[in-house]
Formats: sequence, C-alpha cells, structure tokens
Amino acid sequence: MARRTPRRSEDPFISKLNSPEGVSNNYVRDLFKEAGDRADVRKPVTPRYFRKASASHLASKGVSQAHIEDHHGWTRGSDIAARYVAVFGDANDREIAAAHGIDVGEDESEPTAPVPCPRCGTDVPRHKDFCPDCKQSMDTEATALLESLTSVLDGLLEEEDDAEARGKLIRARQKFDSRPDEFSKAEMHQLLSSLNN
Ligand SMILES: [Zn+2]
Repeated sequence: MARRTPRRSEDPFISKLNSPEGVSNNYVRDLFKEAGDRADVRKPVTPRYFRKASASHLASKGVSQAHIEDHHGWTRGSDIAARYVAVFGDANDREIAAAHGIDVGEDESEPTAPVPCPRCGTDVPRHKDFCPDCKQSMDTEATALLESLTSVLDGLLEEEDDAEARGKLIRARQKFDSRPDEFSKAEMHQLLSSLNN
C-alpha cells in the first residue's frame, strides 16, 4: 500500500522510484517523446507544446487570464498568458476551437431565415440581393450598385460610336434592368470598377 504524505506544492509531479526526488526535465521530455513515437504522433509531443496548446484552448473558451495563469503556474500578469488571451480570446475562438477538433456547429447568432420581399411578399433567401419574383432590391448596397452601373452604362452608350460596342452596352443595360437578381454585389463591384477604369 502506498504511503501517503501531505502534498506540498514543491513535490515533483514525477519522482524517481527509489527516492522522493524529481526526475530531470530531459527525462520527462523523453517520456513524452517515446510515447508519441509509439503512437505515431506527428505533432510536437513536448510539455512546452502541451502548455501552449492548453493555454490557447482555454483562452479560446473565454477562460480569464488569471485562471489560465494559475492553471499553468505562470505568475500573475505574465506576458505569456496575456498574449494567449489577446490572440485567442476573442474573435478567433471559434476557429481555434475548430482547430482543436471541437464541433463548433453553425453560428446561431447569424440569422438564416428567408426575408419576405417588401413589394410582393415572396420569401427571398437571405443571401439574395434581389427578389427572384419582382426584382425588388433586398439590399441598399445592391440598389446603389445597380444605379451606379446603369448610369455608367448609359454614359458609355452616349459616347460609343461603334455599332457592335453599342449593342453590347445595350444588352448589358437590358440585362441589369430585367434580371438584376442574377448579379451578386461582388460581381457588380467588380464590373463597376472595370468600367470606371
Ligand atoms: Zn418581390
């Protein structure tokens, strides 16, 4: 039966078999390395790496800097813990959690339900900028882009002498009038900047 001794904070985590002394850091490193090699683990298998991974994981979960410092034995207000909290403690937490293999699922704060068209009442998928039924713009930015594009096309049309080029401009203009919903905001931005150059 093991002899129980009162725990002291300076007690070694792993001790030698025949004396109450801690083993060397190198010995601990070798223990992890051998276990990692046997398990065919490709990532670094060192106490230092485990501490880093653990700190970033806890920070990503919103654990406070003080708790992270206590947990890892860092002194209060340490630069190391502050860095993990700063890097992983806010917007990155979902990505980091996912990187640790945690299923973060869909972001529930992001609304996904369709939006009813203000003109005809059709349910419009949230990512669409225009109602597929009546072409009502569902987005102020898309409306502004469409207006800019049609006025740029009109300006080009006025100056264009070549019949073939005029035909192309007219067809583009008609396309924007009749099927604005076929264009994404990104495409309209792109087109607008290419026409303005
Ligand atoms: Zn509509």
